[in-house]
Amino acid sequence: MIVTSRGRLQEFIHAIGAAELPGYLVTGAMPVLFDAGMTFMGPLYMAELKEILTDSNLPRRLFLTHSHFDHAGASPYLKRRIPGLKIGAAAAAAETFRKPRAVELIRDLSAPWEEKYRFLAEGEDIAFSGLEIDLLLEDGMELELGAGLTCRVIATPGHTRDSLSFYLPELKALIAGEAVGVFDRNFRIHPEFTSSYRDYVDSLEILSSLAIDTLMMSHFFTLTGTDARDYVGKSLAATREFKARIERCLADSHGDLREVAERIFQEDYAATGAILQDARPYRINLEAKIRVVAEGR
Ligand SMILES: [Zn+2]
Repeated sequence: MIVTSRGRLQEFIHAIGAAELPGYLVTGAMPVLFDAGMTFMGPLYMAELKEILTDSNLPRRLFLTHSHFDHAGASPYLKRRIPGLKIGAAAAAAETFRKPRAVELIRDLSAPWEEKYRFLAEGEDIAFSGLEIDLLLEDGMELELGAGLTCRVIATPGHTRDSLSFYLPELKALIAGEAVGVFDRNFRIHPEFTSSYRDYVDSLEILSSLAIDTLMMSHFFTLTGTDARDYVGKSLAATREFKARIERCLADSHGDLREVAERIFQEDYAATGAILQDARPYRINLEAKIRVVAEGR
């Protein structure tokens, strides 16, 4: 089944915030939140955390799938609001957050959204003030979540260098960020290999060996049952197909990257109206994917 990432997904898992930017909360004895989307969402996540958990049991840990502004944006806010909250991410993400230019970029990308949804954060300090990572998460780490639950960290680069997936073997549940691509409105899979095609495929191969009953996507959807089990294989096929299509377009246009981007934008974005992303970030990511293929990365 494909469900909207909102509310209680199963006994130990809730999606909080909004389906566009879900935080996935695993409520064991030691609750953990996975991802904290854009800055303006901070107060919403906080309100829902308090609603689901008691004040004394607020999460002590927030793990990030990657360093993009729509996955890590509300982290500084939550750190200010939840005493003792430790934030975990890949070492490469920690490095990114230390760069003033990266912080500036996150602030820039967040600004229009903060403006648009100002009413959600009235009187609150939601600014992305930089982010200190407290726990460096490495491939293969197994973390105790209490109540018999564990979380395995799997390095899944390819969307970004710092992409991590989190697997909860006792629940057969996977939080994969954008390492597995995204769905459009028609449940067509759009691959997200913006840093490396080769790494992205390797990451999917690794994920394809897991038993998955619940797959939590980075935006909008959670898959269960057969849909969850079959998804990674389908994502791999869609990834290979998309690369082949980019290669054909590159050959047709004699390597003109801009022409290829325009053509795919028209065919996939403009003509279908199915893509659940604003045109600007879609275009930026599309151009990155075409460059990755053109450069054989
Ligand atoms: Zn991303």
